[in-house]
Amino acid sequence: MMAKAMHHGCKMLLGVTGGIGSGKTTVANMLGAKGARIVDFDLLARKVVEPGTGGFDNIVGYFGTQVVAEDGTLDRKRLSKIVFNDVEKRKKLEAFTHPAIFKAFFTRVKAISAAEPDSVILVVIPLLVELNLQYLFDRLMVVYVPRDVQIRRLARRDNITADEAAVILKAQIPIDEKLKFADFVVDNAGTLEETREQVEGLWKALNKVNVAK
Ligand code: ATP
Repeated sequence: MMAKAMHHGCKMLLGVTGGIGSGKTTVANMLGAKGARIVDFDLLARKVVEPGTGGFDNIVGYFGTQVVAEDGTLDRKRLSKIVFNDVEKRKKLEAFTHPAIFKAFFTRVKAISAAEPDSVILVVIPLLVELNLQYLFDRLMVVYVPRDVQIRRLARRDNITADEAAVILKAQIPIDEKLKFADFVVDNAGTLEETREQVEGLWKALNKVNVAK
């Protein structure tokens, strides 16, 4: 229902998720090249805590200057570490950021829909299922890789050990669970070329969907 209310004429609002490092950005960029519009929650999340925002002030007010980096921006890595094992602090952080993220999200979707009524809008949200945001979207797409591939890529990209990567994965709903919510699945365990081939077919399928049905 919510998705309909937000539409303002866009063809489809597609929620995109997966696990950390499963290839959400990679696949979204491929679909972007085909003509999809992309809204990236991580980018919005960064914007709402830039210096000068209310989000920044609230966070520094609560967590102290220990979370401010030398260049005056928020030390997001430090902040992640602090809230990783502390539910109360994590909730505080979310209360400071989520309302502004959602406001920016709705504004973006409305603007794109108004300018391009036929657009397919992809909204990339790493924790879409964890946050129960399925109701916002017409359809859901999961970018999937098996857990062992996820650990290997995450370890390589972030220069951490496989054990450290496994600990990070523990904080998320297992990617296999997320598949249950998917209308579309991209299997990104193979080569980029193999993923690109799937994206070709997917782009056609997305454009055939009638969200009213
Ligand atoms: P995050 O959850 O951290 O935002 P993500 O799901 O957006 O990650 P990407 O950043 O797209 O994932 O990909 C994770 C890493 O794996 C990147 O370094 C990317 O270059 C690499 N990668 C993605 N797809 C493939 C592939 N098919 N083959 C090899 N490497 C890949």
